[in-house]
Amino acid sequence: MQRKSNLALAIVLLLSLSSPVHAAAPKAGSKCTKAGATTTAVGKKYTCIKSGKNLVWDKGVAIPVVTKAPEIEVKNLLSTDSRITSTSELTNIDTCKTTDNTPMQIFTGSIFTNGFPRPAQALTGKKLAKILVIPISFKNLPFMVEKTQRGQTFTSDIEAMNQVIPLVEDLFKTISVGRFAVKIDVLPQPDWWVINEDQSFSEVWGVSKTPKIAEIIGKYKPDFKFDDYDAYVFAGGNGPANMRGLGAAEAALAYPIANSKKGYFNGMIAIGGFTDPALWVHELGHALFMLEDLYNFDKPNELPSGKGATVPFLWDVMADSTKRQFLEWNRLLMGWLQDSEMRCLTNQKTSVHFLAEYGATTYPKLLTINLAPGVTLAAEARNATNSEKGVLLYTIDTHIGHGSGPIITQNTLLTKGKSQSWLGWEFTVLDTNTGGVLVSVTKTDIDKYVPPVVKPAVQNNPVTPKSTLVITRGDIVPNGSLAARATWNVTGHESYRLYVTDVVDFQKVYFETGVVNDSSSPLVIDIKGLVCNKEFRTVTEFYSKKNGEGERQVIESLQLRNLTCP
Ligand SMILES: [Zn+2]
Repeated sequence: MQRKSNLALAIVLLLSLSSPVHAAAPKAGSKCTKAGATTTAVGKKYTCIKSGKNLVWDKGVAIPVVTKAPEIEVKNLLSTDSRITSTSELTNIDTCKTTDNTPMQIFTGSIFTNGFPRPAQALTGKKLAKILVIPISFKNLPFMVEKTQRGQTFTSDIEAMNQVIPLVEDLFKTISVGRFAVKIDVLPQPDWWVINEDQSFSEVWGVSKTPKIAEIIGKYKPDFKFDDYDAYVFAGGNGPANMRGLGAAEAALAYPIANSKKGYFNGMIAIGGFTDPALWVHELGHALFMLEDLYNFDKPNELPSGKGATVPFLWDVMADSTKRQFLEWNRLLMGWLQDSEMRCLTNQKTSVHFLAEYGATTYPKLLTINLAPGVTLAAEARNATNSEKGVLLYTIDTHIGHGSGPIITQNTLLTKGKSQSWLGWEFTVLDTNTGGVLVSVTKTDIDKYVPPVVKPAVQNNPVTPKSTLVITRGDIVPNGSLAARATWNVTGHESYRLYVTDVVDFQKVYFETGVVNDSSSPLVIDIKGLVCNKEFRTVTEFYSKKNGEGERQVIESLQLRNLTCP
């Protein structure tokens, strides 16, 4: 009944709204009731006037047609500068869309890549990704519907999820300037995954949670179909009020699975701690586009050097998951930057380029110089402090793997009038304005890039070489006063090194083992010399040979925090 009356109301509204559209033009001279009343019809405005002692409609005046003013594109004056090298003198774009030589890609089949062609599982060039959030409840970590006090807010897991989703959708729109969007659905509550066991994910960063998810799917959800969405977000609860879940999110790239026509799923695992939209962009940057981590797993002490070139922690969300921006190179990998917005050089002696900041314009935004196959020197415009733009220089070296610094950026922008020489090329900023830069590039061959000696690839080996170091479980927990114990299930190692630093200032070292020859498993390491009420970063390095030699795996953990004061 309710339904019927609503329908009736809707029809009434529709009629009353539509009636003016169909109103016939009042016939000039026909009667009207109120002097000064007006009506419009068929492009004319009629007024009720007095004619003798009668009130009649006048003959009407044509309503001027308001045409929308054409949008005037504000031309950037630097973009038409006569010094700019014409496109015909540049190198074909394909030369700068450099081949991927990522070692992990070649040797272990890892799908993180930093060059071209893009992996078939990446959404490169697509305009929209459909994402499904799957809330998962464990016996000891439910996905909460009931609200609890968390810091300043009184919220539940589902409420926090519903709050972050529109922020993630908005962030993708703004960060891509409308070139890419995500549409995120959440499984309805009756379909949430209720797992009748305790969660047993490793809390150690670097130990993947994806195999555990795959195990859960096999055991509890063998009929769940992974066909309708581009990526799946496995979301766990945040736990008690003083926790934010397990505190680490990870991406799953093309993870093999039986319940999918494609044979794999792309996804993100966030057992709590999912309230920062930039973190989603980072993880989905992996899961949707197979982008690499641009921070450095191997030499983290070199991160915030403040001098010279380092990993792009100032410039890209894949290097620092709190940054809401991408390098143009990453935009190119995702198909958010058109070929026409890129310029390519190889051996041109001198050339001049206009580079616009990222935005809706079609101006060039990325200058690339191919130094060797798989190695590119790049320049783009970024906001300098004085509201004018500056030039950001960086290198892309696809021989360097995921998490080992495949992209190295300058930490400071090159501003108007300044020059810088790097890897055989000199860049001079001729002019800047609020929308872009005019940069001159000269091939100098000073400190020219020398390609590394390519080791002959291991041929005739049908089996994909796998790492000899296998880490299945790790735990770093408080153990006694201002002390802790790390326990690792690891095989294939003959030596290790563990050290503990401040979570922000990596130069502040609290504990260090040095390289220790030890091949035991479980490997138990006692940590001393810690302080109370602080967060720590524990880095454990495993080596396949004695004395820190052979293959290396580095695992960083933020598990150790807030020790009680004695
Ligand atoms: Zn990452």
